[in-house]
Amino acid sequence: MRVRLAKTAGFCMGVREAMETALGLIHRVKGPLYTFGPLIHNPQVLQLLEEKGVIRLKEIPAAAEGTVIIRAHGVPPQQEEALRRAGLNVVDATCPWVKSVQRLSRMYAGRGHLVVIVGDADHPEVVGLLGYAGDRGRVVSGPEEVAALPEAEKVAAVAQTTQRPEVFKAVVKALEKRYGEIQHGRKAICDATQNRQAEVKRLAGAVDALVVVGGFDSGNTKRLAEVGRAAGVRSWHVETEADLDWAALTECDTVGVTSGASTPNWMIRKVVRELETRRGRGESFGRVVAERVIRFLLRSHLMVALGAASLSVATCLLQGLRPSLGLMGVAFFYIHSMHILNQFLDKEAGEYNDPDRAKFLVRHRWLLIGAGIVSAFMSLFLGWLMGRWVFILLVAISAAGVLYSVPLVSIKVGRWRIRRLKDVPGSKSMSAALAWGAITALVPALSAPGLVNWLVTAFVFVAVTLLIYIRSGLFDIFDVQGDRIVGQETIPILLGEPRTRRLLWLLTGVLGLVLAMGPLVLPEPGLSWWLLLCVGYAAGYLYVYQKRWLHPGARFEALVEANALLAGLIAVVWWWARGL
Ligand code: SF4
Repeated sequence: MRVRLAKTAGFCMGVREAMETALGLIHRVKGPLYTFGPLIHNPQVLQLLEEKGVIRLKEIPAAAEGTVIIRAHGVPPQQEEALRRAGLNVVDATCPWVKSVQRLSRMYAGRGHLVVIVGDADHPEVVGLLGYAGDRGRVVSGPEEVAALPEAEKVAAVAQTTQRPEVFKAVVKALEKRYGEIQHGRKAICDATQNRQAEVKRLAGAVDALVVVGGFDSGNTKRLAEVGRAAGVRSWHVETEADLDWAALTECDTVGVTSGASTPNWMIRKVVRELETRRGRGESFGRVVAERVIRFLLRSHLMVALGAASLSVATCLLQGLRPSLGLMGVAFFYIHSMHILNQFLDKEAGEYNDPDRAKFLVRHRWLLIGAGIVSAFMSLFLGWLMGRWVFILLVAISAAGVLYSVPLVSIKVGRWRIRRLKDVPGSKSMSAALAWGAITALVPALSAPGLVNWLVTAFVFVAVTLLIYIRSGLFDIFDVQGDRIVGQETIPILLGEPRTRRLLWLLTGVLGLVLAMGPLVLPEPGLSWWLLLCVGYAAGYLYVYQKRWLHPGARFEALVEANALLAGLIAVVWWWARGL
């Protein structure tokens, strides 16, 4: 089934900041960590926080120790004060949009206006806003309730930030009709809500049905489904993939998917995966089979291993060496075992980052472990056949790979506690890129020590490391939520997504420059210029991501992994054109 995932799906800014605050504090604070009420409206996220030891306070205690996080929806100022009086250290994770509406409510109330709050009376955000408006605050859910408001000389309107703009406008109109001129903020509804609702309206015309993923308690998620229905498309609000209505969905060819502001990526991915793996109406059998084959190659790590073998053809030719099945085999088996075994070491993050792969891992656990061990032995065996130095290099990088996740020391550097190499900030992508560089550039050089120039090898090593770093850096952006949950400090967590994207663009430019300078260093310079196509390809997938033309998932992963295959293909064609 074809899936069109909304660009705006996933956490909004306010929820993301609240989650970052909570997950950051889990790893930092001493003493109990509480949230006052649910931090956000998503049961799966709340369960996750509970499993991480975050306790949900339902009432304000008379006295307590520890830290309490104020939920993204905010609380009345009286409750915040009571939490402080109880002795708790209060960390405010109220969304900045909500805070600005709280300030407006307080300001209008202070100036003697009747403050009309457009929203759901029992929603925590509205309860908080009422606290700021004091006895001058009133809640209405629609224009029909304006008639019941008390008389007032001055009136101001504010909105629950996730309201439908049409409802807010209708209330403002009804208030103006009754009271004359009234005060209201120009941007009453938050951008995240408006953009999501606008995208649902656009999607409605292009899909057969719409699935909105999010907590059943989440007001903004419910409203997205309402917006979809109002736009004339069949819309379902689901909390998990188990709620999908297959009887109706199998009649569809293209399904739109969006989510509420508090839905984590892994919940959306599970739903998307379920939809993508079913056959839609009118979808060809060949397409479904091709999709399944690609998923299998990705989940079993055969595709990434084939990419490494293919890349090794290019790196041999760049160094003036003849590619061989033995060198391709070392690259294939080493990268295959590395990816399988890393997946087991990174199991917890994997469950959030890639639920589809995690499911495959559970289902084929022993087969994958067996394949990983066989591949590790095969790479060592082939390396041993190639000579002492290749074997020593393979043993050294395998040992470094094992030690990567093993606690060795305990040093505090700034805010980081380093126990394992894995704890070194940004080490995840860098270690993968260095391993690829060693396998595809150093192994061929060490297998023919008398035939290579080490400056050339260093050049090729740098080029491969950059190419793989760009690939892994993009995957780190996709995996940011899971990595944050398990406390892995990747580059996107350290720098944030926009800066990481800029870094990847910069590195793509650097890789282009490096390859363009090939003729200054390489014995066979023409190939490095042809490999600039791979730089263009990397720039292409970064652009596709930036424009959100394809969503993170199996198809995007296949697109990215194909770059290493492309490098090998270019090298083979170039080699063949020169008469092998
Ligand atoms: S939906 Fe808007 S107001 Fe609510 S938390 Fe997200 S950004 Fe803030």
